[in-house]
Amino acid sequence: MKVYNFSAGPSALPVPVLEKAQKEMLNYGSAGMSVMEMSHRSKAFLEIIQAAESGIRELMNIPSNYKVLFLQGGASAQFSMIPMNLYKKRKADFVNTGQWSKKAIEEAGRYGTVNVVASSADKTFNYIPELDASKFDKDADFFHFTMNNTIYGTRFTTLPESGSVPLVTDMSSSILSETYDVSKFGLIYAGAQKNIGPAGLVIVIIREDLVGNTLEGTPVMFDYKIHVENESMYNTPPTFGIYMAGLVFDWLKAEYGGISGIQKYNEEKAALLYDYLDESKMFSGTVEKKDRSLMNVPFVTGNEDIDKKFIDEAKKAGFVNLAGHRSVGGMRASIYNAMPMEGVKALVDFMKAFEKNN
Ligand code: PMP
Repeated sequence: MKVYNFSAGPSALPVPVLEKAQKEMLNYGSAGMSVMEMSHRSKAFLEIIQAAESGIRELMNIPSNYKVLFLQGGASAQFSMIPMNLYKKRKADFVNTGQWSKKAIEEAGRYGTVNVVASSADKTFNYIPELDASKFDKDADFFHFTMNNTIYGTRFTTLPESGSVPLVTDMSSSILSETYDVSKFGLIYAGAQKNIGPAGLVIVIIREDLVGNTLEGTPVMFDYKIHVENESMYNTPPTFGIYMAGLVFDWLKAEYGGISGIQKYNEEKAALLYDYLDESKMFSGTVEKKDRSLMNVPFVTGNEDIDKKFIDEAKKAGFVNLAGHRSVGGMRASIYNAMPMEGVKALVDFMKAFEKNN
């Protein structure tokens, strides 16, 4: 049975991408083998990684003084790698907008001082806190925030004004979903398993001047400089993930003409669901309206038994992975780039029918 997959990650991939990968599975081009079986030093693979890099550079309009790295260890490895590479005075500012921010804060705290400038913990992270620039440390090595909060469904809509302190952001669940001005950031990182491709790959976009200052004792695999010098080929990179990412970048361009095209589509998709949540008498969104994510839409009925019944019945009807994160409960529909409008429409119709019958 065809299902609509609302998973927060790993999540749905575009069908044309999966079909292309299927077609090339046994024989990529004239290689006579699968991408998975190729040497990462082969000409065919070098072309794949170079095409993937130019693909994302073009989509995100990445300036030439930024490096693009294809690494492993997920976004979580970046929680450690960032302080190991960016700490000089060993202090950084952080905004705490939930579990992933907290993990980044804890990890950075192992190597230096962290200054939490704002938090939304008081309301289970259902909003983005106001930032008071007078609390920022002008002398910090970096300023870290989580652009889109996968679990709680919040997103930043304006960037923190950190002055000359480099902005560092976890863009795991919103990269490629709307336009961002890369030149405003020192470093952007994103795990692949939502809007980029299969799990196992993390992309790091880093301004050149931030490369090459690792703390003493940093393991070689955690040194950005090593990966920059070796063009992400210091060791064997996640080759199949990089190939799939390249196909996703091609698809975005072919299907939507680039990020502003998919952004418009994502705004329409999200509005369809939020509008219904706002008019429904049974379901309601949990996030303050101004901070609503375009990618992750959490909602509740206010009754845990009905939530559970809804999740079970939705699953039977082909709408899968709608349970909220285990730490918050309720429901969450993740509607990343690959989720078509039809999927959201069908979900809203299903919710309307459920509301009527219950
Ligand atoms: N940051 C955010 C915003 C996430 O959503 C996730 C995973 N869902 C992570 C970090 C952790 O990513 P990984 O599992 O790739 O380490």
